[in-house]
Amino acid sequence: MSMEIGTPKRTKEIIARYGFTFKKSLGQNFLIDGNILNRIVEAAELDETKGALEIGPGIGALTQRLARAAGKVAAIEIDQRLIPILSDIMDDEPHVSLIHGDVLKLDLKKLFEEQFSGLDGVSVVANLPYYVTTPILMKLLEERLPLNHIVVMIQKEVAERMAAKPGGKEYGSLSVAVQYYCEPSLVCTVPHTVFIPQPNVDSAVIKLSVRDKPAVEVADESFFFRVVQASFAQRRKTLGNNLTAFAGKERREALLALLAAAGIDPVRRGETLSLEEFAALSKALLATGWFNR
Ligand code: SAM
Repeated sequence: MSMEIGTPKRTKEIIARYGFTFKKSLGQNFLIDGNILNRIVEAAELDETKGALEIGPGIGALTQRLARAAGKVAAIEIDQRLIPILSDIMDDEPHVSLIHGDVLKLDLKKLFEEQFSGLDGVSVVANLPYYVTTPILMKLLEERLPLNHIVVMIQKEVAERMAAKPGGKEYGSLSVAVQYYCEPSLVCTVPHTVFIPQPNVDSAVIKLSVRDKPAVEVADESFFFRVVQASFAQRRKTLGNNLTAFAGKERREALLALLAAAGIDPVRRGETLSLEEFAALSKALLATGWFNR
């Protein structure tokens, strides 16, 4: 078995040997703790029949462990400088592909066909660059890729928002979007000390188990998300007021009647509505014909 990359000593050695300098703008914080790396890999429930997509392998601390756990690993790295370092450090493993590119720009459907055909499902496993966490996760979910789990290290506060239940101040449109597609669970919170360099925010590992079908049935998905956004538009305002701004002042009376018919009190706030209530609300609003689709 090859030497562990994710230790303080080895990471410092690799950085020094290749003269690597961190780019803060790319969210480069490398993991140096074997226990945390193990917990991430374990949460992904991999075996030789499964694939792992890693976003941002860095110098390969996680990639190396994924290679031991999965039947196939594809790792997408935006920083060209890391590609030769990675191929040099990683053992020559035919089931690991390094792809130079920006995950936000790549055609992931095509990549999945090329990299993971014949496997029994794929999980995304990554220590994500924090500056693009939400766009990356939304891309993965909206493209309906055939995913089992998404296990990612992200900013703790974002993890809490993703897993939040209705009623709390963390619950918002991100919670609804993530929970529409997945069942979230917090794996662990992580101290600053397990990274080089240390990020200046707290971190957590979250597991998103992708649902076979969305949590609620909606007639028009993009309209459903428009209603969710509108309901949270101004968090201190009531649902009645936020939705009046969405539907137009002249429709206020009709809107209040619609809410009453749907059994939703207009003085409630968006943050108290469950996914089922948002689905019922968007269905009723769509049926009015007030909105362009
Ligand atoms: N996986 C490594 C680890 O845990 O030690 C590195 C994680 S580091 C937090 C994030 C990595 O993502 C960096 O290597 C960075 O260059 C890469 N990255 C940043 N933006 C990216 C993007 N849009 N597409 C692909 N990789 C990206």
